[in-house]
Amino acid sequence: MDQYKEGKSAYSLVKKLYPIYRSITGDGVRESLKIIRDYIDASEFITYEVKTGTKAFDWIVPKEWKIRDAYIESETGERYAQFRENNLHVIGYSLPVDKWVDREELEYCIYTQKDQENAIPYVTSYYKERYGFCMSEKEKRSLTGGRYRVFVDSELFNGSLTYADCVFKGKSEAEIVISTYCCHPQMANDNCSGMALLAELAKYVKSLKNRYFTYRFAIFPETIGAIVYLSQNNRLEYMKRHTIGGYTLSCVGDDGDYSIILSKDGNSISDRALKNVLLFSESTKKLYKEYSYLERGSDERQYNSPGVGIPVTGFCRTKYWEFQEYHTSLDMMSFISPKGLQGSIDVMKEVIDAIEHNRKYMITTPCEPQLGRRGLYPTLSQKGRYDEVKAMMDFIGYADGNKDLIEISYDIKQPVKILIPIVQKLMENGLLCMGD
Ligand code: ZN
Repeated sequence: MDQYKEGKSAYSLVKKLYPIYRSITGDGVRESLKIIRDYIDASEFITYEVKTGTKAFDWIVPKEWKIRDAYIESETGERYAQFRENNLHVIGYSLPVDKWVDREELEYCIYTQKDQENAIPYVTSYYKERYGFCMSEKEKRSLTGGRYRVFVDSELFNGSLTYADCVFKGKSEAEIVISTYCCHPQMANDNCSGMALLAELAKYVKSLKNRYFTYRFAIFPETIGAIVYLSQNNRLEYMKRHTIGGYTLSCVGDDGDYSIILSKDGNSISDRALKNVLLFSESTKKLYKEYSYLERGSDERQYNSPGVGIPVTGFCRTKYWEFQEYHTSLDMMSFISPKGLQGSIDVMKEVIDAIEHNRKYMITTPCEPQLGRRGLYPTLSQKGRYDEVKAMMDFIGYADGNKDLIEISYDIKQPVKILIPIVQKLMENGLLCMGD
């Protein structure tokens, strides 16, 4: 079996999303959401439009932005900072402009990353109207004296903000929310990788038979989109009542260590499940970093805010802000890999399995059940089967209806992934029931 099968598929999804120009509004978002909808292929996937000027708690949906082209041109016709070569070259939400400026005036509208001379920085100005270009220090140095034409063919108009969600109902109305953002332009890890992981997980949840929990997948522009999402369709009230935890996915395609950003109290089901999986998995233990809510940075900020109180956890490989390529043109396709994506997919699928099975279980008979007569205990003593039997006997010894599966996993030092088939076997044989 191909061990990176889903990682490769997610990688080709990233490749499709990567060159599309995205911002907090506009056609790039719509096109990206359409690609993701086709990929998940679920009738539950719904795209929404919210008009410019709509109130969202303390915020207002901004004007929609459209861009067709942008560049700086010298008197001899050489072009620099060409939007069509890399869409990070223009600052997000740039106003239209077409005029000649001298070298000194040009200086005011150029942004570079001083400590990385080959990187084009990612810069936006959503809430203050201006225009500007981003380029590498190296390209900037190649500008000589003289006059330059600054050209941005863009428009800001009354349009809408676009977002999407996809809710897969389970037996329980209790929900897990998994979300990511779709507002970043041409960067692979931040955050095409997040969109691809979300799509893979939605496909996985869709395929689960007898789902217990309800799963809400949502994709929106970061911050403003999360706020709009919670403010629309009575979602705030509904989600406050039903959502028990969740994840924000960001920067999940590189090969670095895994990161968990705990919810405010650090003890939600999503914190506990992810922590448990990272701690016990052969491939991840010792290779993960735990951050407190004080180091939050993505939409976990909105979910965990005092007026919302939904204990959502952040998941990354190398955390945003912590890698050099972050928010620059160096966050390109070669920075991520099918292997990196596969690692994130494996972790998060295991997390979903852990959440699905995390109940309090109780052995139905006093003393140890007789496993041998049910074929659950090896009648021959043989090396190698010991670990499996030990895990089962330990689980039986601790399944008293007081602790949930994740707690027992710590008590008996066994990954939840090993305990799930044991739970299933014992249930099938009537030896285990659910506690409350
Ligand atoms: Zn970012």
